[in-house]
Amino acid sequence: MTERLYYADSYLREFHARVLDRTPDGTLYLDRTAFYPTSGGQPHDTGFIAGTAVVDVIDEGERIAHRTAAPVDTAQVECRIDWSRRLDHMQQHTGQHLLSAVFVEQFGIETISFHLGQEISTIDLETPAVDMANVIAAERRANEAVSENRAILVTYENAAAAGDLRKPSDRVGTLRIVSIDGLDRIACGGTHVRLTGEIGPILIRRLEKIRNCVRVEFLCGRRAVTRARADYDALSRIAQAFSTSLDEAPQTAAAQIDAARENDRIRRKLESDLAHYQGRELYEGAAPGENGLRRVSRRLQKGTMEELRALAQSFTAQPKAVFIGAVDKPASVMLATSLDSGIEAGKILQPLLLHAGGRGGGSARMAQGSVPSAEALDQVVRALLSL
Ligand SMILES: [Zn+2]
Repeated sequence: MTERLYYADSYLREFHARVLDRTPDGTLYLDRTAFYPTSGGQPHDTGFIAGTAVVDVIDEGERIAHRTAAPVDTAQVECRIDWSRRLDHMQQHTGQHLLSAVFVEQFGIETISFHLGQEISTIDLETPAVDMANVIAAERRANEAVSENRAILVTYENAAAAGDLRKPSDRVGTLRIVSIDGLDRIACGGTHVRLTGEIGPILIRRLEKIRNCVRVEFLCGRRAVTRARADYDALSRIAQAFSTSLDEAPQTAAAQIDAARENDRIRRKLESDLAHYQGRELYEGAAPGENGLRRVSRRLQKGTMEELRALAQSFTAQPKAVFIGAVDKPASVMLATSLDSGIEAGKILQPLLLHAGGRGGGSARMAQGSVPSAEALDQVVRALLSL
């Protein structure tokens, strides 16, 4: 059985231990350990055992398995945990206790699960929805409790007698109870800071509705400051791009988006007007053939048929008109005809496309399709020109 040193002292960073058992793949079992194994939503510690990196720590019930990067063959080992990683975990984990306690205290909302991630941590609140105003109030209240620097104590109490817990424990015998002075009492086996001030700032970010819960993302301590710095940098770049201040950036961005939409609307109108005039000009310049039809073709090296559509429509709005459009890449073709042309675009184009290995179709006035190659495109265009 491994003695769990982190239960009594979560600030213990270095310790000596005796190796009780080992496996050839580099798993060690010690008589005592300060390495926290992955459990209760908190990830395992890393660090060194006899100078060899610890890559995983697993709770096997009675014993704790330490997986090392290489086999360790000494019997007595000096151990050191990665303190920066552990302190970060303690800040997030204790911050979670506080945040969960505040959601109960302020709004009677229970936390049903906790996840401590590499970048962000989450709690799932047992509620179908939560007001943003309440989330902000909970964040403020939690940060108040941080500045009050309340004591966080670990006590051992008999499960049958331990009352007033935020969440009832289904364990029997002795419970390890972690309490935040005047705010919270809960059974927990994790590692915690000793004063709420050590949690540092608490920052709530994204909310996500998951089934019948609300998942709340949060950051504590150094993570909150790092995130706030990244947010500031991003917002500064946005403000700089808009030549405005940070506080005015959202309004300026919204106004610019509106202006861009309006410009886009005007541009489309102008393009349509231009196509209308170009279509008429094209028509005036096209001599009628023997059958009385005016026929023109336009070919783009690349682009989409959309770019030719307005011109085609404008051209074929005139009497006895046939418009053939083609785009080389991707190989595609269009046929537009005026009402009095006697040519049904879809019925004419579809068999030509099929014959050339392509596909497509359309109405009597406008049809289009794609073909597999430039040669196939030439073949279809030639056929249309001889209509
Ligand atoms: Zn805990």
